[in-house]
Amino acid sequence: LFTSPALSAGETRVIDGPQAHYLSRVMRVKAGDAVILCDDETGEWAARVTDAGKRSVTVEMAELLRERESVPQLTLCAALLKKPRFDLVLEKATELGVARIQPVITRRCVADALNMDRARTIVTEAAEQCARTALPHIAEPVTLDAMLREWASIWHGQPLFFADETRDAPPATSAFAAEAAPAAILIGPEGGFDDAERAAIRGAEAARPVSLGPRILRGETAAIAAISLWMGIAGD
Ligand code: SAM
Repeated sequence: LFTSPALSAGETRVIDGPQAHYLSRVMRVKAGDAVILCDDETGEWAARVTDAGKRSVTVEMAELLRERESVPQLTLCAALLKKPRFDLVLEKATELGVARIQPVITRRCVADALNMDRARTIVTEAAEQCARTALPHIAEPVTLDAMLREWASIWHGQPLFFADETRDAPPATSAFAAEAAPAAILIGPEGGFDDAERAAIRGAEAARPVSLGPRILRGETAAIAAISLWMGIAGD
């Protein structure tokens, strides 16, 4: 269970809200039970339940089991997709270990907004399920132009791998091997990027078009494939 603020040995922490409901009603914890907590700062802790009520559960922190993991410095810049498909992107990108998820709004996006609370819940539950000790950062959606500007200014010089299905871009594997971390991967929406967007991406200094093979993949498939390839080659 991810909680905040940072945890410390011997402290008593009262957990309330949905997490208390999950512990007491779903996991049916009772006093004396052992639980595992993470705080996305120090790492993963062993704790013991001292009181389990319907509205709150009290735990006493014991010991640090695992330090917060080092996260491969990969940002996924993904065009918003229809809700269930983007939910899948959030969940699988978290499981695969990305550091940041930057939702992008492009002209052909079907969805034009993202429920951030819901997105954070999906990411947190995926992190708990795969036993990550660090949560990926999920940013508010931005337009493609804003994302390109941010990438140029904040992440200057780091490659922005643009998953490009339309022309003979180099295979992603060779591009990823040629330029190690940190990096970003940009994936388009269901309808792809339009010509003006494609020109803007290609005009970006850091942009590197990469191919994920000869077939047209769904956006969520392209995201999962590209992250998996990158993690296998450049992830630390
Ligand atoms: N232009 C596509 C079409 O003609 O149907 C629509 C876009 S595709 C469904 C969604 C996104 O996945 C693309 O914008 C691209 O970023 C990525 N993608 C799909 N297949 C790819 C491939 N073979 N190589 C690289 N990227 C791919």
